[in-house]
Amino acid sequence: MTDSPIENRIKQLHQLLQDYNHQYYVLDEPSVPDAEYDGLMKELIQLETSYPKLKTIDSPSQKVGGKALASFSQVTHKIPMLSLDNVFSDEEWLAFVKRITDKLLNNKSIMFCAEPKLDGLAVSLRYDNGILVQAATRGDGAVGENITENVRTIKSIPLKLIGDGFPKVIEVRGEVFMPKASFDMLNQQAIKKGDKTFANPRNAAAGSLRQLDSKVTASRNLAFYAYGVGFVGDDEITLNEQWLSDSHYKRLEQLKSLGIPMCPEVKLLDNSTLVNDFYLHILSVRDELSYEIDGTVFKVDSIGQQKKLGFVARAPRWATAYKFPAQEETTKLLDVEFQVGRTGAITPVARLEPKFVGGVTVSNATLHNQDEIDRLGIKINDFVTIRRAGDVIPQIVNVQTAKRVKEQSTLPVDEQLRDIIFPKHCPVCQSSVIRAEGEAVLRCTGGLFCGAQRKEAIKHFSSRKALDIDGLGDKLVEQLVDEQLIKTPADLFKLTELDVSTIERMGHKSAQNLINGIKIAKTTTLPKFIYALGIREVGETTAANLANYFFVLDTIKTATVEELQKVPDVGVIVAKNIVQFFQQTHNKEVVSELEAAISWPIIEEKSEEQQPLKDKVFVLTGTLNQMGRSEAKAALQALGAKVSGSVSAKTHYLVAGEKAGSKLTKAQDLGINILNENDMIALIGKYE
Ligand code: NAD
Repeated sequence: MTDSPIENRIKQLHQLLQDYNHQYYVLDEPSVPDAEYDGLMKELIQLETSYPKLKTIDSPSQKVGGKALASFSQVTHKIPMLSLDNVFSDEEWLAFVKRITDKLLNNKSIMFCAEPKLDGLAVSLRYDNGILVQAATRGDGAVGENITENVRTIKSIPLKLIGDGFPKVIEVRGEVFMPKASFDMLNQQAIKKGDKTFANPRNAAAGSLRQLDSKVTASRNLAFYAYGVGFVGDDEITLNEQWLSDSHYKRLEQLKSLGIPMCPEVKLLDNSTLVNDFYLHILSVRDELSYEIDGTVFKVDSIGQQKKLGFVARAPRWATAYKFPAQEETTKLLDVEFQVGRTGAITPVARLEPKFVGGVTVSNATLHNQDEIDRLGIKINDFVTIRRAGDVIPQIVNVQTAKRVKEQSTLPVDEQLRDIIFPKHCPVCQSSVIRAEGEAVLRCTGGLFCGAQRKEAIKHFSSRKALDIDGLGDKLVEQLVDEQLIKTPADLFKLTELDVSTIERMGHKSAQNLINGIKIAKTTTLPKFIYALGIREVGETTAANLANYFFVLDTIKTATVEELQKVPDVGVIVAKNIVQFFQQTHNKEVVSELEAAISWPIIEEKSEEQQPLKDKVFVLTGTLNQMGRSEAKAALQALGAKVSGSVSAKTHYLVAGEKAGSKLTKAQDLGINILNENDMIALIGKYE
């Protein structure tokens, strides 16, 4: 006889949930989001409720966690470590309350211990005569892994209880978790090293605790909060619970008095009507908590009532998790588009099948750069896990590779997997794109021309240290671009008073001032002009060095990477940026338009005499009260000196202003000449 469609679906669900359990509990590497797992589990439970005959004892709905890893010795729990049932809505919560009230056969209000649902992993700590002798994971609920050595490295878990009067043997149950800050740091380090990252703090905690080498656990900064008591008493004689309170909440406080950490958010609620407020409060502070949670847990507080209620297969009847809406979901990567940022950075943006997650519908997520794409191993048409937590922008956590269809050719072409190919030309202005050495980001080289970079380029061009156009602030640049009065910095010099006066709220006087400011800016210096072009990594000093080395712009425009590197402070990366900038036809056009509009005095090669400080390296630090940093820098450079940002053995003089800090100490250690501001002014004065 063949199986009915229902039987088939149940079998399929068994298989899927078993696979997901193995990946989650045993390998600490979930392949699908919790919400997807929870959906499948819910479907299975519903089918089993409708068709009780099809419910088997090996069903995943009847089981807790996963098998203990054989590489650890095993610990049989004297009292099973169970899971928790879930509710997701007020309706489900009320059904839970009704179930327990009916079972307890009393209408007296039930007190609840309200706790955050910590997102880590359950452990049981056994203290014999107050000494931590054993720690175990939950495993499959009956048998867990012996992780005593690893748990001993967790600073918040006491190796010895404080006080006295506690039972001879007491098992503390609670959650080991990884604080959010440690999780972020661990993943950042992994990305730097090119290692695999953890999907979430739970997996990071589980992966860090279930290590064969306890040194690894020690390096991971795990923490612990207790949420219950397991076995209590004397191993051989009888259970001795007298020391312990009959209130679950008070038990946690008792544990706290022994030195065992208790989550500060835990509260005792007088009745079930207060549950909603607690849930909403914890939801509202979730992002500020230093640890990850995925909901709240409500437990009948009276141990007597708990005993009456008892257990079902995998969870106690006296407690339930009230989970928060999911922050992770599965969706599909439909396509990748490339956006050009204000600085020319080209970012791949994932276009996703819209999905409701973390309270909003997500249809885009940034893929950052090529490195991130390689790290994820992501292709167009992949199923991916997306995450949106709090106000954080949505991110793609991982690719669900198990869902890839092996025989791709059986799929319609537009559903087949495709590699993500980066463009060779800027999608906005068609200039070529480059990836500078040591940078993960791809950039457009059409700085002066590219529509995406237009506003920033013009703002930089007119800024104080560049052409210093009086009357042209950032807001006005934006208006001029938005009104399509200018597209490039060269267009500024074509503006008329009439053009400018068309801008909203622009008075006659302001328009006149602006045109006047632009006129004045037509006379500048070569270093300022080079700096104004906004070539990547060409700051004021580099611009001045380029001008003083080459004297004329035409030579800089045609200089090779090798020639450019002869200029002080110009390394290969900067040299390449300069070459690439001047290679772009669009940039060349804008620069020649600018040259036609602007002029600067010819720089003449200075004689040795005019450069008395030639080859002397100065570093300026602290506050200079009389001269100001840039003025001092320019005066020193005019005398041939180099002004560097950091102290090294090559530094000749350190000019220490007020509140000079570490640079001064370093210079003193290296025995470098130290000048105060007056010394420097005197030195400059001597040659001027
Ligand atoms: P659970 O996480 O739903 O609840 C039980 C656990 O909650 C306890 O064992 C304990 O570790 C923890 N907990 C945290 N705070 C607690 C508190 N204050 N009091 C008591 N317990 C607290 O249970 P589970 O059985 O470990 O896992 C089931 C859940 O795990 C599923 O609902 C699913 O979301 C997730 N899961 C996901 C996958 C996947 O592939 N993504 C696979 C398996 C399980």
